[in-house]
Amino acid sequence: MKKKINKYDIALIIAIIIINILLLFYGSRNVSKVDDNIALVYSKNELVGKYILSENYENEFTINSGVGHNTIKIKDKKIWIEEASCPDQICTYQGKISSDGEIIVCLPNQLLIKIEGNSNDGIDFIAP
Ligand SMILES: [Zn+2]
Repeated sequence: MKKKINKYDIALIIAIIIINILLLFYGSRNVSKVDDNIALVYSKNELVGKYILSENYENEFTINSGVGHNTIKIKDKKIWIEEASCPDQICTYQGKISSDGEIIVCLPNQLLIKIEGNSNDGIDFIAP
């Protein structure tokens, strides 16, 4: 019984590794093939995430800086702040950005979103 469980575990680990490698290949191939921009998310001047703004990529997440939070949404190759705790709400009014060089700033929460063109291939990770 125990041996079977071990075998199963090993098979599972191998499967996960294979899936990861496939995803990595698929991801990097996707990046070089399609001219997608990258959204860089900074909290308190530190890079906390890199997101590729590709056709089918959708995500929603909240970044909490300790001062406040911003809920960020990614869809249709655009990124924007859906909801924020800051008093001025300026970041939510900055709308959806998608082009190289565009930024969204939330000063009260010390959050910065920056779009970077995909010409330089300095991607080290893709956050899910
Ligand atoms: Zn704000």
